[in-house]
Amino acid sequence: MPPHPQTWLKTTPSGLYCEPGGFWIDPTRAVPHAVISHAHADHARPGHAYVLATAGTLAVMRTRMGAERAGDQQQALAYREALKVNDVTVTLYPAGHVLGAAQILMEYQGARAVVSGDYKRQPDPTCESFEPVACDVFVTEATFGLPVFHHPAAADEINRLLASVDLFPERTHVVGCYALGKCQRVIAVLRQCGYDRPIYLHGAHVAVCKTYQALGVDLGELRPATASAKEELKGAIVLAPPSAIADRWARRLEDPVVCMASGWMRIRQRAKGGGIELPLIISDHADWDDLLRTIREVGAPEIWVTHGAEEALIHAASRMQIRARALSLVGYGDEDAE
Ligand SMILES: [Zn+2]
Ligand SMILES: [Zn+2]
Repeated sequence: MPPHPQTWLKTTPSGLYCEPGGFWIDPTRAVPHAVISHAHADHARPGHAYVLATAGTLAVMRTRMGAERAGDQQQALAYREALKVNDVTVTLYPAGHVLGAAQILMEYQGARAVVSGDYKRQPDPTCESFEPVACDVFVTEATFGLPVFHHPAAADEINRLLASVDLFPERTHVVGCYALGKCQRVIAVLRQCGYDRPIYLHGAHVAVCKTYQALGVDLGELRPATASAKEELKGAIVLAPPSAIADRWARRLEDPVVCMASGWMRIRQRAKGGGIELPLIISDHADWDDLLRTIREVGAPEIWVTHGAEEALIHAASRMQIRARALSLVGYGDEDAE
């Protein structure tokens, strides 16, 4: 009998630890050996001695935290390439979340466990699509793990933004979006929808966009919004971090239409309370239906549920005859909620 993953994948104060591999997955504090699913700040922390991740994740980590803090030693592993780490074989598969995002498959003495990291099933022109991987235990996120969460197609939401730009050609549309992933996806979907004018960026968004472009993601013409005259931004689309759209930075712009691209925009009060005039429901996490579909597709007899609405998903899984339990990992959140 292959050893059940619960005997070799353990919750520790630093996060999930793979004992026979001697490594932590997305550790929440500096460790000797980390395997990182993706570069969002709650999953990729600075200061590890050794980091294994995709080349995309490592590049974004270096951009965001500086090469010296992104791990003393970095090793890139391509998708679907197996690597023996002590007694465990590690293989990374696309998670469809952001550029470089990976699910982590661990094989140990015939047992297979997959840690999804964050993932989504909607198409995203900036990263490879999620690939279901058969396993004995699937560790899934549950950020939007409630039936109320349904994400419409991103292109439909972007077309609503473009309709507003047509309607208010004199106003600046400021879109609040997280700097890694969401920002580049909004740009790429705008391009797919035929928007070919320059797109303006808040200073906080420039570096990661450059990294995406360096890794071959076409984002069209981008310009810094800070250096641009107010006049030039009339009728333009400006992308900024969620924290900037409510403060003085946005109010300097000409009669801005304040927009926000987030899965949380499904909750009307959340948009209203944040002073969002045009909420766009665009999320890089699986919605309720996609969480259930994924659990079905990986075919694991058991799932462990992490950060998000664990209870509802555990209940739904048990109705599908799947064993499910909450994995109480602390320190992870949703990047849009930060
Ligand atoms: Zn994430
Ligand atoms: Zn996360």
